[in-house]
Amino acid sequence: MNPQNSCHRGRFAPSPTGRMHLGNVYCALLSYLSVKSKGGDWVLRIEDLDPQRSKPDFARWIEDDLHWLGLDWDEGGSKGGLYAPYYQSERSDYYAFLFEKIKEQTYPCFCRRADLLAASAPHASDGRVLYAGTCKNLSTEQINLKMQTQKPAIRLQVPHQNVSFVDGLYGLQSIDLQDFYGDFVLRRTDGTYAYQLAVVADDAAMHITEVLRGNDLLSSTPAQLYLYNLLGLQAPSFTHVPLLMSSKSGERLSKRDGSLSMEALRARGIMPEQIWGMIAHRIGLLSKEEPISAKDLIPLYDVNKLPKQNITVYSE
Ligand code: GLU
Repeated sequence: MNPQNSCHRGRFAPSPTGRMHLGNVYCALLSYLSVKSKGGDWVLRIEDLDPQRSKPDFARWIEDDLHWLGLDWDEGGSKGGLYAPYYQSERSDYYAFLFEKIKEQTYPCFCRRADLLAASAPHASDGRVLYAGTCKNLSTEQINLKMQTQKPAIRLQVPHQNVSFVDGLYGLQSIDLQDFYGDFVLRRTDGTYAYQLAVVADDAAMHITEVLRGNDLLSSTPAQLYLYNLLGLQAPSFTHVPLLMSSKSGERLSKRDGSLSMEALRARGIMPEQIWGMIAHRIGLLSKEEPISAKDLIPLYDVNKLPKQNITVYSE
């Protein structure tokens, strides 16, 4: 039997751009519990795609914190495994290979951020910059001329097509690709491949069967499903979970909530079981807040118990 068809596989895919905080480890826990409650393998992938922001030291801290938390992964990171590499910075050949397959459906885009903002359709009021297609019809001459002074990003042409999927927590989702994203970037001006392409390539290469991640990425899923389809790759199932929000800023937890970074939590002498007890109680897996290990939470995990609304945690 082919092992990749018999095994349930999930992943945690942090970007090593800082020390993890409570919001990151909460996502790691849920992804771990979801996979382990089905007897599957949990993979650690380091998303160090952005060479400017990613640092090997942070990747080491991610592993150190996961060990300390008792979240033992089966493969990936420095542990390696059958589907290596587990660092995005080492997989660019594969991204390039997949990119070549759909190159005919792409075009170079020379717009700068200011141009994009100026041309963005007014209804993208949630912070998205909806691409208006400015560079879609440039002639070969215009392209060659611009190439002399500027490096382009490469965009994928997307049709007016509805992409639907059933999210494990939020249920049926449906988006018109062109209305929601416009033609989206596959390769950035610095030559690195964009998140949407890399994440699809990685999840497929690592035979991931379920993706569980924060609901901030829910709206990326239709773009990724479109890419799976275009590239003839098998898509995983998707579950998005509510985010932890900061009582201080009212926004999702971030580096600015210094008191909830792993560094601060560990320095205060807080134990992993206390962290898990608090989280498990807030998401409905425990009726009262009491210390518990990640392993002991596995039999208690049930996606149907999770709240759909974001969860505010106290931050100083
Ligand atoms: N690397 C992304 C992050 O840290 C996660 C990407 C994903 O789970 O698809 O937010």
